Amino acid sequence: MSDPVWAIAIHGGAGPAHKSDYSDETKHMRNVIEDAKQALIAGESAINVIQTAVRSLEESGHHIAGRGSSPNKDGKWELDAAIMDGVTREAGAVGALRGFKSPIDCARTVLAESPHLFLVGKGATRFLKKRKLERVQNPSRYYKPAIDLPIETGALQHGTVGAVALDSDGRLAAATSTGGLLNKQPGRIGDTPLIGAGTWADERVAVSCTGQGEYFIRCAAAADLSARIRYKKSDLTDAAACVLEDISYLGGQGGLIAIDRLGRVTMPFNTISMKRAFATWRGDLEVKVF
Ligand code: ASP
Repeated sequence: MSDPVWAIAIHGGAGPAHKSDYSDETKHMRNVIEDAKQALIAGESAINVIQTAVRSLEESGHHIAGRGSSPNKDGKWELDAAIMDGVTREAGAVGALRGFKSPIDCARTVLAESPHLFLVGKGATRFLKKRKLERVQNPSRYYKPAIDLPIETGALQHGTVGAVALDSDGRLAAATSTGGLLNKQPGRIGDTPLIGAGTWADERVAVSCTGQGEYFIRCAAAADLSARIRYKKSDLTDAAACVLEDISYLGGQGGLIAIDRLGRVTMPFNTISMKRAFATWRGDLEVKVF
């Protein structure tokens, strides 16, 4: 019998390089990939594996997501996240969320327990605080912004985190979580929690994007990648390259990770770097920044 096909990919954001040594980040990403790999080999579902991977990236404080997020212009932390199950196309998302340690756990809770798909702001808080989710009691003490450079509004730095996986039962899933663009306006929500823009999974492909969210929204980037496979019969790498070309054409910057149902992985970006890693059933494992 041949080995079951599985694959996992993660990212820690696309952007300019603000330092030369990313060894802490790459070490942590390697651990995340190793854990995800073991879970997939043990038969865990793609959606559980990507949720765990993204939670770990959020907790690490290495990226502009979860603990490493920066405050908005008003000094408040408003975070976005989404998760999507490719089998059922069920999804959950949160936007401009305040006061929870793991936005991806919140998104999964919305998927599982809310009649709605996307909750934002105070309504999201009201719904989620009744659930067993870890709260942030003291934001200025809890958050440790991964970037503390003086930054112009909307500037792109290594930020968002994401994960996509194919499990050994052929199920695909995608998750993305972010603190958003630096120094953003209160209430600004980017592509990350918008299903079809920054996050998408169906029976063909799972996609998680990173970059200047406004451009990814205007290109319906993640859903467009799937549509190219479905309607044009493009292969994964071509479809992803075309999506990124569209974003570049509009003047946008960023990257994405995607896995298809055959376990192929692509990770294109048009920035100087994108923190990224993947592993597959074939035994390959790679962690890269540049
Ligand atoms: N795409 C994210 C946003 O626009 C930012 C990022 O990926 O760095 O909120």
